[in-house]
Amino acid sequence: GEGRSILFDVRRVTRRFGGLTAVNEISLNVSAGECVSVIGPNGAGKSTLFNLLAGTDRPDDGIVRFVGEDVTGYTPDEFARRGVARTFQHGRVFGNLSVLDNVLIGAHSRLAIARHGLPLIGAIVEVFRALVPGAALRDEDERLRDEAKHVLARFGTRLLPRIDAPAHSLSYANRRRVEIARALMLHPRILLLDEPTAGMNESETAEMQEFMLELKRGGLTILLIEHKLDLVMRLSDRVIVLDDGKKIVSGLPEEVRNNPLVIEAYLGH
Ligand code: ADP
Ligand code: MG
Repeated sequence: GEGRSILFDVRRVTRRFGGLTAVNEISLNVSAGECVSVIGPNGAGKSTLFNLLAGTDRPDDGIVRFVGEDVTGYTPDEFARRGVARTFQHGRVFGNLSVLDNVLIGAHSRLAIARHGLPLIGAIVEVFRALVPGAALRDEDERLRDEAKHVLARFGTRLLPRIDAPAHSLSYANRRRVEIARALMLHPRILLLDEPTAGMNESETAEMQEFMLELKRGGLTILLIEHKLDLVMRLSDRVIVLDDGKKIVSGLPEEVRNNPLVIEAYLGH
């Protein structure tokens, strides 16, 4: 049969902070359409690993390939332009900007590709803009706003009534949703979610699980850090377990759940 294309191909990446090896020779790959979860106790190196896969931090050793290209040590913008979108463990929104503007920011890297990647078309658009002041920009603006509203509508009525509110006025759970909406505006090839349900109650968690399942059904590739194991079991095609910077186990969800090393890592801390 036809093999699924590999998006991330990560070989023995290492990140040290002084004497601490936060990520220790971790290898993994993620194919298009998969949901792969990274689990492990606090301090295992999960968020640090994400940082290495999204350009927020650089590995001291090892190689990160994305769709065959060596992207080791690239900047967040360079990762974003290749379709790697991520959210942060503690949520990052621009508090003074409106919900809508926070989501619109996600389109920035995508538009940068369109402008720089297609110089001829970009030049034509620029000439058109010069001849018809404001018109082209207004159209693009309008189109992006409509798209951002569509993305926000995927969260039902959680965010739509609040699109003009400053992000700081939202609940914690809603700020996390805004961050995901912003990531989706990139049209990502892969979405990295760092504990998307942290701080959410049971019903909010169930809602987020349904949302992620919906993304997966739509074909989106997801790399997920998550503590709630029931959710991990339902959502993941494969699970990778980190402990003390190392990958200790990986496999199918049910294999991982019953692995003695995993039980030990969770209960031992
Ligand atoms: P996890 O996300 O699995 O809880 P982290 O990746 O956040 O773990 O952290 C792994 C280890 O690296 C922890 O011991 C943490 O204190 C340390 N660490 C993370 N970031 C830094 C940093 N910028 N400077 C120093 N130590 C760090
Ligand atoms: Mg973390």
